[in-house]
Amino acid sequence: MVIADVHRHVQHWITPGGLLAEMDELKIGWAGAVSAPYGPWDIQPYMQLLGKRYIATTGQMTLTDIHRYKGVRGIEDAQTHDYKALVEEANRLFEAGAIKGLGELILNNENTNPNPSFRRKVRIDSPGITQLLDIAKRWNGFVQIHAEDDASSVSELAKLASYYSTVPIILSHCLFTANTGLIDELLKKYSNLFCEMSARNESLYGNYFAKQKAEKFGWIVFDDQSLKPEWKSLIEKHPTRFMVGTDNFNASVDTRKVVRQIRQGLLRNLPLEVAQLLASGNAVRVMRLE
Ligand SMILES: [Zn+2]
Repeated sequence: MVIADVHRHVQHWITPGGLLAEMDELKIGWAGAVSAPYGPWDIQPYMQLLGKRYIATTGQMTLTDIHRYKGVRGIEDAQTHDYKALVEEANRLFEAGAIKGLGELILNNENTNPNPSFRRKVRIDSPGITQLLDIAKRWNGFVQIHAEDDASSVSELAKLASYYSTVPIILSHCLFTANTGLIDELLKKYSNLFCEMSARNESLYGNYFAKQKAEKFGWIVFDDQSLKPEWKSLIEKHPTRFMVGTDNFNASVDTRKVVRQIRQGLLRNLPLEVAQLLASGNAVRVMRLE
């Protein structure tokens, strides 16, 4: 079964040729839908080699820069110089058909990022962010947002989903929530919300402390063999709303292991037609992949 990896940070430690070989070996049809916070800044070589199999986006690096120099306020403020450049670039790339969406927009990772200087909690419905949704709406693109499940972030996301009802909003890591009832409610209420399941597998938490924390907060949903029953029923209840991803956020992530867990722990525990939707069907439809 071919997979669409919708959380693949194509970062500088993998060459375009290396990525292509890995995708062919692991039967990954498409990869991307987030960008590379550590570079490369020029994605042209990847796009040239991978063509339509590379799900190109923009926005993530600009937000990282704005946060580094201007903090959370800078991300919320639509008027900064960096945003003007991003808006211009995003419009140009969408028009050229060179990108499919925007993201990963990391807006709340207060508890879910190991690096304190990278942590932030941004008002998700602030002008800085809504201007990006306006662009996605204009070009029929998607937006991928990394947020957590606290009440304020959830209500801001709900506002965004309801106002931009035609824009597919992909929730990175399914909000890192353990609360399947919350996701059930959100998916029932907003038909443009989707969950991607990267970093919800056991192998992403390699060392003892990372695993302790992941267990404590209920981040781990599947491993080599099993899928948590409450997540299995949630996914089966909303089969058209979930996608998969590997999340190579740093060079130590073992992509082969992650893909094995996606296939054996997640997909194999679902009915075949549901597994096919998760593997690639939903991404192909929502992100209009070819
Ligand atoms: Zn990510």
